[in-house]
Amino acid sequence: MSPQPRQLVLPFAARAPAPGRPGGVALERRGGVELVEMTCRSILNWVQGSRASDFYSINPYRGCEHACAYCYARYTHEFLDQPGSADFERRVYVKVNVPEVLVHDLRHAKVYEHGISFGSATDPYQPAEHRFRLTRRLLEGLLPFRGFSLSIVTKSALVERDVELLAELASRHELAVLFSCMTTDPVLQRALEPRASAPERRLQAMARLSAAGVHTELLVAPLMPGLNDGEEALGRLCRRAREAGAVSVFGQALFLFEASRRRFFSWLEQHRPELTEPYRRAFARSRELDREVRDELSDRLTRAAAAAGLGAGRRTVR
Ligand code: SF4
Repeated sequence: MSPQPRQLVLPFAARAPAPGRPGGVALERRGGVELVEMTCRSILNWVQGSRASDFYSINPYRGCEHACAYCYARYTHEFLDQPGSADFERRVYVKVNVPEVLVHDLRHAKVYEHGISFGSATDPYQPAEHRFRLTRRLLEGLLPFRGFSLSIVTKSALVERDVELLAELASRHELAVLFSCMTTDPVLQRALEPRASAPERRLQAMARLSAAGVHTELLVAPLMPGLNDGEEALGRLCRRAREAGAVSVFGQALFLFEASRRRFFSWLEQHRPELTEPYRRAFARSRELDREVRDELSDRLTRAAAAAGLGAGRRTVR
């Protein structure tokens, strides 16, 4: 019989969340990106049977301005009647009521039994966080508790802003900050992830958090044959992460849902046309690479990690 969840005693009053609605009020327009208000009914979303073990995900923003060409989460905009995958990075929904919704959700979730992951779909420290600070407010909402298993996945150095808060959370909860970084090559990074932080900035942020006592890990996602899977490149990345205080590394091979496939192949045609045909063949029958290819990518990363003194990291989806 599974143990009963411990009673969660809220240190402050919980209000029932406002009814969810997709919104439509533009909060800000800049540089071709529109930030649109959205309210939601729930912010702790149960993720079951995925690549990672069961957990609750928290994504305060829908869409992501970082605009990574391979991003698997593009399909999430299709549920909002936004079929163009470019809308994913040009119209970002800001879930303005999530701090109060979290208080309500925590009453009903089994948060002592399952982890909470920030950013399993979209980046919680993407540029909108500068102004709206929703991720920060959600993290502050977890401060009064103890003993949760928390993880944050990001490609942004903005996480450094919250170093004191994260160090405080780490003293109360089991916290890991996973820096998603697929290369140290600034040219490749810029081409594939045009508005995410540069690799060096991410590694600096990682070093700052590690020095403050926050557990940090490297997430090499995605691993893409012919682009970032060279032994030398992976070795360099693992060594830099180790120097920045990372404890472990985990890799994720590229997989392509339909919305991501269109965008990724258009990127290949523009930037690496010689790889277009091999990738078409590799993804002809499945959204995943063949098992042997995935195993080879995993083995390469494992060798690079071992040489750098990094352990094996946790499984995650992004
Ligand atoms: S940072 Fe993550 S969520 Fe944002 S576009 Fe890149 S892969 Fe997608």
